[in-house]
Amino acid sequence: MSGISRRQFVLTAAMAGVLGAMPAFAMSDPFAAPSRWDRTVDVIVIGAGGAGLAAAVTAKEAGVKDVLVLEKMPYPGGNTLRAGGGFNAAVKADYEKAGIKDSPELHASQTLAAGDYRGNPEIVRKLTALAPESVQWLKDHGVKFEDRIYQIYGGLHPRARNPLGPRGSTYIIALTDVCKREGIPVELDSKVVNIVREKPFAGRVLGVQVEQGGKLVNVRARTGVIVCAGGFAANAKLCGLHDPRLEKLGTTNQPGATGEVLNDLVDLGAQTTCLDYIQCIPGGLPDGRKYPNLFTHVDRFIFTNIEGKRFINEDARRDVLRDAMLAQPEMIAWTIVDADGFELQKNSKGPENEAARKEGTLKIANTIEELAGLMNVKPAVLKETIDAYNKAVDTKKDPMGRAPSMLVNKIIKAPFYAGQVTMKRHHTMGGVVINTNAEVIDRDGKVIPSLWAAGEITGVVHGTNRVGGNAMADIFTYGRVAGQSAARASRK
Ligand SMILES: Cc1cc2nc3c(=O)[nH]c(=O)nc-3n(C[C@H](O)[C@H](O)[C@H](O)COP(=O)(O)OP(=O)(O)OC[C@H]3O[C@@H](n4cnc5c(N)ncnc54)[C@H](O)[C@@H]3O)c2cc1C
Repeated sequence: MSGISRRQFVLTAAMAGVLGAMPAFAMSDPFAAPSRWDRTVDVIVIGAGGAGLAAAVTAKEAGVKDVLVLEKMPYPGGNTLRAGGGFNAAVKADYEKAGIKDSPELHASQTLAAGDYRGNPEIVRKLTALAPESVQWLKDHGVKFEDRIYQIYGGLHPRARNPLGPRGSTYIIALTDVCKREGIPVELDSKVVNIVREKPFAGRVLGVQVEQGGKLVNVRARTGVIVCAGGFAANAKLCGLHDPRLEKLGTTNQPGATGEVLNDLVDLGAQTTCLDYIQCIPGGLPDGRKYPNLFTHVDRFIFTNIEGKRFINEDARRDVLRDAMLAQPEMIAWTIVDADGFELQKNSKGPENEAARKEGTLKIANTIEELAGLMNVKPAVLKETIDAYNKAVDTKKDPMGRAPSMLVNKIIKAPFYAGQVTMKRHHTMGGVVINTNAEVIDRDGKVIPSLWAAGEITGVVHGTNRVGGNAMADIFTYGRVAGQSAARASRK
């Protein structure tokens, strides 16, 4: 059918009330496969983010001849391009060197507990077992990592590493280079508007319909389709349907994170889970100005409200942090670090913080009292807050409940830095159900033949709450799994 998806068609038909009111073109069967295919490849990958590029490269390296990546935006990368890049994996050599107690089993049990056991244990255990291999796989494909292992915001354990380079784009630059070398076309401005299955709710997936150069092109996939189209946190309305509190917030996401491919998957019978769970993280105020990011390293910063008082243990789960900040006056918080904390963010947040300094939203002062003045907070209140926090570091007892392992760095070295934040829609935990081979499962619990999915479009990993740093582990691990599964299918 023309450039509207089957779901849009059905909704339009429902709104029209009677089929007699529908335009003539819509009278054709909306679920029928196209009468002709314009192109044929072996494997189609939808989305050129981290999961999609990992899937495409893996499939190609495992012997699939014709792999095609379709990306709707004019650039590759998706949210992976924007990510800080913090990547959780229990890599033995890394945690032993850092003197940290860790293991893939601990990573799995913390992930399941943090998502209130709504993640699938088998999927999560495979993820944490293979995450160290994913780090190595990225190294083998040109990514270098910083040595330091740290606890990322909402990460709940020191297990994250950052790529050496421009954050999440480091991964995208490396993998798009591999695509060029391997002859994998990454076609941009190519929006998939329909995934075609033999019959509604039955048979194998045959290919996709994609808008390219103002035309609708029917692309057949001999082996199948891997869906890596990301989440929907940029779609305010869709998020509002699932959690009405969040509709009016801004988003950290790229504008293409809108979820229409998830709708296509529902149309062809895919099962979904956890769609109501939408993560927020701090971001700039909605006035369009640039704001600093000072909250990446949990052991280095504190939050206060606009009165200068702490209101939460900063090492809490992201859903707990979201709800605590949304409950503060004006839903605004200050993030505060000292000189050492600021220095640590330089590789990942340097340009952002420099832009905020020029904008005047990054407050810098040589004393806490002076900082309070810049924040429009009573100096005695802020001094008391910082003193109480520094005392908690000394005693390893925080009245707000921060863990002793996150009470290691006082806020004592000038200059001191502060920036305002509010909550923004960040990550959608829900999505389609897959099994451990990344095959998409239908509403009767059966595999949909020739269809795989990986990354933020899936809903079985994070449960109610994603652990910070686990998305990188997920997309590169299940992206690779999906690529391997498609390659196996192509050999049959
Ligand atoms: C600002 C920011 C910082 C983050 N930092 C971290 C971090 O440090 N650590 C961490 O673990 N996680 C982080 N995350 C989360 C993480 O980046 C994402 O969950 C992850 O990158 C998703 O990867 P993906 O491959 O599933 O989707 P994406 O990378 O979003 O890729 C999906 C792609 O599919 C494309 N697409 C969508 N619809 C269509 C269509 N109809 N046709 C064709 N293409 C389509 C999109 O345009 C996009 O390019 C961060 C997220 C943001 C926004």
